Amino acid sequence: MAFDYDLFVIGAGSGGVRASRISSSLGAKVAIAEEYRVGGTCVIRGCVPKKLFVYASHFAEDFEDAANYGWTVPETSHDWKTLIRNKDTEIDRLNGIYHQILSNNNVELYESRAEIIDQNTIRVGDKTVTAKYILIATGGTPVMPDVPGIEHAISSNEAFHLEEMPKRVVVVGGGYIAVEFAGIFNGLGADVIQLYRGEQILRGFDHHVQAMVAQEITKKGIDLRTRANPAKIEKTDTGLQITLEDGSVIEADAIMYATGRRPNVDGLGLEAVGVETQGNGAIVVDEYSKTTADNIYAVGDVTDRIALTPVAIHEGMAFAETVFGGKPRAFDHSDVPSAVFSQPPVGSVGLTEAEAREKFGEVDIYKSEFRPMKQTITLGSERAMVKLIVEPKSDRVVGVHIVGADAGEIIQGIGIAVKCGATKEQFDATVGVHPTLAEEIVTMREKYTGD
Ligand code: NDP
Repeated sequence: MAFDYDLFVIGAGSGGVRASRISSSLGAKVAIAEEYRVGGTCVIRGCVPKKLFVYASHFAEDFEDAANYGWTVPETSHDWKTLIRNKDTEIDRLNGIYHQILSNNNVELYESRAEIIDQNTIRVGDKTVTAKYILIATGGTPVMPDVPGIEHAISSNEAFHLEEMPKRVVVVGGGYIAVEFAGIFNGLGADVIQLYRGEQILRGFDHHVQAMVAQEITKKGIDLRTRANPAKIEKTDTGLQITLEDGSVIEADAIMYATGRRPNVDGLGLEAVGVETQGNGAIVVDEYSKTTADNIYAVGDVTDRIALTPVAIHEGMAFAETVFGGKPRAFDHSDVPSAVFSQPPVGSVGLTEAEAREKFGEVDIYKSEFRPMKQTITLGSERAMVKLIVEPKSDRVVGVHIVGADAGEIIQGIGIAVKCGATKEQFDATVGVHPTLAEEIVTMREKYTGD
C-alpha cells in the first residue's frame, strides 16, 4: 500500500524535530505536525528562556561582588519588560531556525493539531493523511493540583509572559522548575517564599546536594518552607492570598506552581490504535521507543523516561537509525548528566550515594565543601561542594555531584569520564586545572566518613 509519507511525526519539539530530520536524511518522506510553535517546550517555554532568566537574575549578585573587586557600581535597577522583549526576540529567532531546519531537510510542516485515526491514518487540521510509521513526540504539560482557587496561580508557561515583574512570589514545589524559578525571582528582587510538601527539596538528587542547595538558596534570601501544603488560593484587593493547611496565610502578587509535568496525550486517539499508556498518561515503549502498536513509536517527555531535552534528541536519533537506517539502536538511559540551574547550580551524573549503596552495598565517598575563590574577597558567602561516589571493588567512579558556579558546564566533561567507566585511580592521575572549582574532582584523596 502506498502512503502519503513514510513517517508522520506529531510534535515539533526537540525529539520530534531531530527524529524527522534524521529520518529524512536517511531517505524517508517525512511530515510533522505542531499545534503551537515549532521548537517545543525547551526552546519556546522551557530550558532556553529559563536560562536567559537565570542569567538576568544573577547580575544582582554580580553587581554586589563587583564592588569588592574595585568597581564603582551605580545604583542598579531591573526592567522586566526589556528582559521579556529581548527573550521573545531570541525565542522568535530560534523558532525561525527550527522552521528552517525542517524545510532544509524536506520535512513537510503542518501547523495544526494532529490526531491518530487508525494505524496509518492521521487527521491534521482539516486534512487526512497516511503514513507507514507514526512517531509521537508531544512532550508534557504542567500539572496544576486540584487546590481551591488554583485558577489564580500560574505555571512556568505563564511565568515567561508576565506583564509585570511580581514583587512577592510564592513558588509551590521542590523540583527542578520550582528551585530554578525561586532563584530567578529572588535574583530579580522579589520576596520569594518557596513551599515544599516534603522534608527536603530536589527529591531524587544526592542527599548532600539537596541539603547544600536548600542551605545556599536560603542564605540568598529565599524563604524555603518545608512540610508546607497549600489549602486554598484567593484573590484579594491587593493581590493574591494563599492559605496553608496549618492555617498560615501568605500574601503574594504571583503564585507559581511547579508541581511536575504530565505527558501530553489527550485527544491523540491512542486507544483506537492500541497504544498503551501508564496511569499518568505516559506512553509505554520498548527500548527502541516502539509503542504497543507495531508501526507507532514515541520519544521524549511523552514517554516519561528521563524528561530532558538531550535525552529526547538521543531517543529521536536512535528511532530514526532503527526504523530508517537499518541499524537498530536502543538508547542507553544510564549515566545521563544533568544540571539544575538553581543559584548556585547543580551538576550531577551517575548514581546518588543512596542509589550506589543500594546497588553495591559498600561505597567510598569523597566530598569536599569549600568557599569558591571568587567569594574570598567579596561579601558573598556562597559555598561549593564536589562529591564522588566510588564502587570499591572495580574502583569505578559511579556518581559525581557538584554544587557551585558553572556546575552544569563542569559536569558535561565529567559525564564523558563516568560514561567511559573511569576509575578513581584515573581521576587521581588526571592533573587539576588550577585555580578552578573543578580541580577538586581530581584532587580529593581522603575518604569522607560522615553522614
Ligand atoms: P519535578 O517532578 O522535578 O518536581 C515536582 C515537584 O512538585 C516536586 O517537588 C513534588 O514533590 C512537587 N509536587 C508534586 N505534586 C504536588 C502537589 N500536588 N502539591 C504540592 N507539591 C507537589 O517537576 P518539575 O515540574 O520541576 O519539572 C518537570 C521535569 O522537567 C523535571 O523532572 C525535569 O526532568 C525537567 N526539567 C529539567 C530541567 C533541567 O534540566 N535543568 C529544568 C526544568 C525541568 P515531591 O518531591 O514530594 O514529589
